[in-house]
Amino acid sequence: MTLAPGDIVLVPLGPREVFGVVWDKPDGDTDGNVSSSKLREVSAKPICPPIQPSMRRFIDWVANYTMSTPGMVLRMVLRTPASYNTPSLQEGLKYSGIEPERMTGARAKVLELVREGFMWTKSGLSHAAGVSGSVIDGLVKQGSLTKIQFPSPPIVSIPDINFAEPELSEEQKSASDILVAQIRKGGTPVCLLDGVTGSGKTEVYFEAIAEVINRGSQILILLPEIALTSGFLERFDRRFGTRPAQWHSDITPKMREKVWRQIATGEIHVVVGARSALYLPFCQLGLIIVDEEHEAAFKQEDRVFYNARDMAVVRGAIAKAPVILSSATPSIESRVNANLGRYQYIRLAERYKQAALPDLRAVDMRNDPPPRGKFLSPVLINEIAGSLERGEQSLLFLNRRGYAPLTLCRACGHRFECNDCSAWLVEHRFRQKLVCHHCGHNEPVPDSCPNCGTLDHLVACGPGVERLGEELLELFSEKRIMVLSSDIAGGAKRMRLELDAIAKGEADIVVGTQLVAKGHNFPLMTCVGVVDADIGLSNGDPRAAERTFQLLSQVTGRAGRSGLESVGLIQTFQPEHPVIKAIISGEREQFYEREIAARKSSGLPPFSRLASIVISSTDRKKAEQHANEIRLTCKPDPQILVLGPAEAPIAQVRGRYRFRLLFRAVKASELHNYLRDMLNSGPKTRGDIRAQVDIDPQSFL
Ligand code: ADP
Ligand code: ZN
Repeated sequence: MTLAPGDIVLVPLGPREVFGVVWDKPDGDTDGNVSSSKLREVSAKPICPPIQPSMRRFIDWVANYTMSTPGMVLRMVLRTPASYNTPSLQEGLKYSGIEPERMTGARAKVLELVREGFMWTKSGLSHAAGVSGSVIDGLVKQGSLTKIQFPSPPIVSIPDINFAEPELSEEQKSASDILVAQIRKGGTPVCLLDGVTGSGKTEVYFEAIAEVINRGSQILILLPEIALTSGFLERFDRRFGTRPAQWHSDITPKMREKVWRQIATGEIHVVVGARSALYLPFCQLGLIIVDEEHEAAFKQEDRVFYNARDMAVVRGAIAKAPVILSSATPSIESRVNANLGRYQYIRLAERYKQAALPDLRAVDMRNDPPPRGKFLSPVLINEIAGSLERGEQSLLFLNRRGYAPLTLCRACGHRFECNDCSAWLVEHRFRQKLVCHHCGHNEPVPDSCPNCGTLDHLVACGPGVERLGEELLELFSEKRIMVLSSDIAGGAKRMRLELDAIAKGEADIVVGTQLVAKGHNFPLMTCVGVVDADIGLSNGDPRAAERTFQLLSQVTGRAGRSGLESVGLIQTFQPEHPVIKAIISGEREQFYEREIAARKSSGLPPFSRLASIVISSTDRKKAEQHANEIRLTCKPDPQILVLGPAEAPIAQVRGRYRFRLLFRAVKASELHNYLRDMLNSGPKTRGDIRAQVDIDPQSFL
């Protein structure tokens, strides 16, 4: 068998056969000293384009950086074994020239179509002719139609860059000119496109896409949430006359197979996908776009822990493709990179067509509190009523699923907690369940307290989106109120339908979690209320201020996108907090300056690198002991700060107790060397103890 690096091969592994890739090392070096008794023969080599050198180097890079094994990273590339085999042929029908013995109206309709000489699938033909499948079968029997085999056509056609060229505003035009110039210049520039919500960032990077399509290269667009894609696909279609291919967990295995293969062969030019699309086998990658680059959803915290935004920059550098990071609220990391001149900074300061930004105000909950047991201030209710009167829409944002975050017994004070996690059970009144948001455990809401047995004394504490829906229904009973969160029955598909319905004005008041808050375009939305702006401000996360700033900017940015006058009200107990003030005053540059300075003075990322190791076990003692043993093997090193072990803030998840060690260094390479050394010399995990390394952690829970 002739094999070359990059070839996908089938190999025996124990009793199984699995797919692997013929690997090479960047320096051409190979591990020649494997004992021949350990070697097995390759079973087969499917006819399939090889994994390209740039992809192999990317896999090596990710494995090294995240401290995972290359095989774990490669798994993300080899997700669709069916794609490696020769694509199955599709059955088609063609006119044979023979007329049927008996002609009917239905048969005539079919023959009229096939006489033009094209191939048809059976379903396509019956659909186009408006006849049943049995009519087609009849014509096959008569010999008028012959069956033929043909390879399935590309799932998407080539985008037409002249299909609907936009008229860009002056500001947009100069931004797109810079992008295009960067692409023409060659090299691997990274551009940060920083533009307020509604400034037309998408419109602008579409011009960069057009430039790359024109050169015949491929484009990858990463989006943080699949719920966002439907509007995006249509927008792309309006600009380029065809949809891009999609890649996320929601597409069918058959489609997955086709997308994978057609990307490898170059038949697909543009893919829009979730972070896993980074591992698709592009044969000629020419541009990567990361939209909403600041989003935490780009961080994968499972198996291989990586941030797709950062890995996209690496993928671009290795594949020699430019990268565009786009956001209305860029991450501190990216802003610092732009300040240092590592990224080209491009700013869009105005909304398109001068659509005014919403008038933003804080509602001081100490001065204008809601009635007892309610959560909406009269000030906010007043604004909602005003927008309803004008026939416009309101959006209330609260990042809490369910009815109430805590249920307790008024008789004995018993709180409902998950047995396996350090978390309260959240009441979901619609489903009549108490649910753990960490492990998914759920139980029916009991009539009596399991602790003291008192009947009907359970009280819901605090608001969730369902409870706000109820409060609004009492106030505006004749209005159409929609409550949206990831709990929606019917999943992503239903979510997209509901979002479309809102955009068409089919709801008056929308209550939602962050899924509704992001990236959507609701023309009639003129009143946005943030129900509890303080939630994320004091949770001990070093990114708390940044996250709150980003989230609240996104939410309030939903208002007034079509030019109508709009308001954004932020309910808070601390209106003087710098983050709240920065949002209200619109002084975002001040926020960035202050936050960057604060990170610098406290030595937090991006002015240092962090890594965490979470030790977990079903046995609390064992987890703690192992964490302590690791700590003891940590050598003193002036470059490295070691913190912990400490019990993780969420001390137990899914029955596993968790302890955390945190490491800090100025340079990533110092951190990597130190951790590698420590893990090699330190105690090995035994039993059910797990040690999970997370480089650049986002979550500190
Ligand atoms: P952003 O991504 O910056 O929030 P979008 O690209 O979604 O902004 O643009 C906001 C709205 O303005 C969209 O509905 C978009 O179609 C419209 N828009 C922006 N620029 C143009 C343009 N040059 N021509 C036509 N419509 C535009
Ligand atoms: Zn749980």
